[in-house]
Amino acid sequence: MVLAATVPTFSPGRLSAEDRILSSDAFAGRGPDTPAETKTIDYVVSQMKAAGLKPGGDVKHGKRSWTQAVPLLRTEIIGTPSLSLTMNGTSEALTQGSEIAVRAPMDGSTSVAIANAPLVFVGYGVKAPERQWDDFKGVDLHGKIAVVLVNDPDFETGKGDFGGKAMTYYGRWTYKYEEAARQGALGMLVVHETAPASYGWATVKNSNINTMFDIVRDKPAAAHPQLEGWIQRDLAVAMFKHAGLDFDALKQQAQSRAFKPVLLKGESFSASFKVDSSVITSHNIVGRVIGGKHPEQTVIYSAHWDHLGVGQPDAKGDRIYNGAVDNATGSAALIELGRAFAHAPRPERSVVFLNVTAEEKGLLGSEYYAAKPLYPLATTVGVINMDALDPHGPTRNFTISGNARLGLLDDLIATAKKFGMVYTADPKPEAGHFFRSDHFSFAKRGVPAISFGSGNDWVDGGIKAGKAAQDDYVSNRYHQPGDKWQASWPFTGMARDLQVLYAVGSDLADSGQWPNWSKDSEFRATRDASAAERH
Ligand SMILES: [Zn+2]
Repeated sequence: MVLAATVPTFSPGRLSAEDRILSSDAFAGRGPDTPAETKTIDYVVSQMKAAGLKPGGDVKHGKRSWTQAVPLLRTEIIGTPSLSLTMNGTSEALTQGSEIAVRAPMDGSTSVAIANAPLVFVGYGVKAPERQWDDFKGVDLHGKIAVVLVNDPDFETGKGDFGGKAMTYYGRWTYKYEEAARQGALGMLVVHETAPASYGWATVKNSNINTMFDIVRDKPAAAHPQLEGWIQRDLAVAMFKHAGLDFDALKQQAQSRAFKPVLLKGESFSASFKVDSSVITSHNIVGRVIGGKHPEQTVIYSAHWDHLGVGQPDAKGDRIYNGAVDNATGSAALIELGRAFAHAPRPERSVVFLNVTAEEKGLLGSEYYAAKPLYPLATTVGVINMDALDPHGPTRNFTISGNARLGLLDDLIATAKKFGMVYTADPKPEAGHFFRSDHFSFAKRGVPAISFGSGNDWVDGGIKAGKAAQDDYVSNRYHQPGDKWQASWPFTGMARDLQVLYAVGSDLADSGQWPNWSKDSEFRATRDASAAERH
C-alpha cells in the first residue's frame, strides 16, 4: 500500500481557481447541449491537457479524442395532457401536477391514447429471484396500468429480506418502471408517500412533469412502459376504496412474499396527449493515463460536469444555477487527480478521468458510458465518483453515498485511517442515495463503484460547524442559484481528501487486485458472471 508520506499534495489554490471559473456566470450553469457545454468542454480539456493527460474519448480517424458523444432522447408532453379515472361508470378528470404527475413517454411513443385501461395493484412491484420474491405471480399486465408502492417491502417494519430500513435497488422508482417494462405493462403509477419516497410531492411534481431525457436506446420499450407516472396517496386511497379495497390493509399484505396482484374492480384509467421528441447530443469528457503493464485494465475516477443551467429566478432575480459545489468541485478534483497521476511514475494499469454529462437529468452521461463503454467493464477495476465535495477545511471523517458493502469501501477506510480520518456511514440509507449518483450506472452492471462524500466533523469546529455548513448548503444553495463560489472557501479539506482518493486509486492501478462486492450484494452475481475475463 502507498505510504501516506509518499502521496503527492494537492493545491487548494488550483482547486479554488478551477471551481471559480467553472461556476462563474460566464459558464451559465453548465447546461448540456447549450453554448455553455462547448465552453465547459474547452476549459476542462485545456486543463486536462496542461495537467499532462492524454485524450481517452471516442476514436476518430484512428486516434482518441477528448470526448465521448452522448446522444440523448428529449421528450415533452405537448400542452396539458388529458387524464382521467373512471370509477363505477363515472369519469373524473385528473389534474397534471396536482393529484397525478405523468412523465413524457420515453418508450419511443409520439402520442399516447389510452382508453379505459384496467388498473392492477402489484404491491412493491418486485421480482427478486435471489430473495425468492415475486410480486407479479404471473399476472398479465399487457394493456393494463400497474399501481405500485415506493421503496422496499421491508421499509415499514425495518425487518426482512431487503436490507431492513436501508433501500435496495428494488425500492427505487427507476427499478419499478424497468420491471413494469419487463412485465409488459402498458403503464405504471407509483403511489407517492413522503416517508418511503424520502421527499414530498413538490419534488415529484418538479422532476416529472417537465421535459424528460434518456439515453438513446436500441430498444427503448424494453426499458420503459408507455406511461410512467406518480399519484398522490390520497388519490390511491380513494381509488382502492371505490373498488371495495383497503389501501393500508393491502399495503401490509404487500410486505409478505405471499402477496398476489389485485385488480381494482370497476375502475379504469385513460390518457390522451401528443409528444414532442428529438435527439440532442451532449458529451462526456475523457482524459487518461495509459498503464505501463496492463493498459487494458482501467481504474476510473468520475465526476459530472453539468448542472442545471439557466432557470427559474430566485428571490433576488438570479437565474443562473452556478453549481459551484454541485459539481464544479468534482470536476476540479478530477483535473487535479489527473495532474497527480500524470506526474507520478507510470501506473501498471490505465487510469481514466471521466467528466460525465447530464447527471442532473438522471445520471445519463454515466449511463451512456456504462452502456457503451470506451474501455471494457469486465476489466474496469473500480470506479471512484465525486459529487459535490466540501470546499471548506479538513475533516476527521468521510462518507459514501448510500450503504453498500464492497472491497473498495474497505480500501477507502484503511487508507483514510492513515490520514487520520474515520468512515461515517450514510445516516439515511433508506433514502436510496446509493442509486442517485453516477457510480450507480457502473454498480448496476456489476463494476465495483463508490461515490465518495466529504465528512462533516471539521478539524476546526467539529460536528457543530460541519453540520451548520451542511444545513446552510441544503437550505440555501443546493440546486439553487445560491450555489456560488466564495473567496473565503479554503479548499484545504478537498486537497486532503484527494490524497486519500489518490492513494486508493494508485494502489489499485499498481496491483493485480480485483475488488468485489460483498457476498450478499445484489450486484455480486453480475460481476462474477464476467470473472473469466479477469486474470
Ligand atoms: Zn451533483
